[in-house]
Amino acid sequence: MGNFFDSKYFIIKLKIVKKLFFLIVISAILLSFPSKSTKAEHQNGYKLRTVVIDPGHGGRDPGAIGVGGIKEKDVALAVALKLGSYINQYLPDVKVLYTRETDKFVALHERANIANKANADLFISIHANATNSRSANGTETFVLGLHRSAQNLEVAKRENSVILLEDNYVERYDGFDPTSPEGHIIFSLFQDAYLEQSIHFASKVEDQFENRALRRSRGVKQAGFLVLYQTTMPSVLVELGFLTNPAEARYLGSEEGQSFLASALFRAFREYKEEIEARGSHRYLADRSVPIPEDIIQNEVTQEDNPSSALAFKVQIYATQNMSDKDNAKFQNLQKFHVERAGDFYRFVVGPFNQREEASTHHKELINNGFGDAFLVPYYNGERISWQEAAKYE
Ligand SMILES: [Zn+2]
Repeated sequence: MGNFFDSKYFIIKLKIVKKLFFLIVISAILLSFPSKSTKAEHQNGYKLRTVVIDPGHGGRDPGAIGVGGIKEKDVALAVALKLGSYINQYLPDVKVLYTRETDKFVALHERANIANKANADLFISIHANATNSRSANGTETFVLGLHRSAQNLEVAKRENSVILLEDNYVERYDGFDPTSPEGHIIFSLFQDAYLEQSIHFASKVEDQFENRALRRSRGVKQAGFLVLYQTTMPSVLVELGFLTNPAEARYLGSEEGQSFLASALFRAFREYKEEIEARGSHRYLADRSVPIPEDIIQNEVTQEDNPSSALAFKVQIYATQNMSDKDNAKFQNLQKFHVERAGDFYRFVVGPFNQREEASTHHKELINNGFGDAFLVPYYNGERISWQEAAKYE
């Protein structure tokens, strides 16, 4: 090979330089007349085409049950359908897909599957919060990652526990146990290739909730949500507010509240779409390590207003040394039913419930439905504790 000063190569290099100069001039001319609507497409070809909206829970899984019996599944569906209709109306070039459009049960892996198969550009999971404190309030938007507080772990545990209602969840989710804190940690340590984009959208959502819908924003947070882990695109899980707070439950159940929240989500979506298309792509290399903005971490620490939310309750309905007893017909249609191992025994339990009143309601129902020996048990961070210990956390 010749070097730069060999005449043959020098001429070739000169030609390349001339060509480059020509290209720069042409580009400068083209760029000075940007057509706003087609600029992003011409520059890089990236368009946000498909969004999957995922209303949490549904069918036999009501999600959290709040003040006055309001159900998370109904609030999530109402807000999801409104958001989808706004996108269809104002951004007709975007394809809107739902994981459910009616009150039906959809397994978590199926929700992620719908988004993955559609090659969606964004996944928005919509939920409402619950805790054992009536004063807790505000919105929070989660991205996948390791929780930095017991409170965030509790939200993930509650949302992930819906897989207990699915058949064969142990096989389906590679042995993941939603009742153990360790399980939630393991998969949240995986590198999320879309973390930066997810945080970008999540921040817009919380900003709109605060400034447009005038809600109290608890900020962008991280925790190990199974449904986010299984999606292969930027994804967030939105908690619209606390159904266990009387005022917020009223707002979440109202037509007006649902419209405000959906329109805040729509504005966040529109802004995100515009920015991402101008930037070029939401695709990031999987091995790129994304620093987490410092303010997210601070938010989580300062907004910790309910340290007792790791407290939960279950109703024990039966104990046996024979695991196969669970196949008995009387256990088949119970909500939140699962089996816990304790030494040589198996405990058949219903729960967990974050609120003691909610657990008591289920306890009474179970007694009335033939489980006369049912009793209530407190748990802390997934471990069974005594009532004396529970009193310290309540
Ligand atoms: Zn939920």
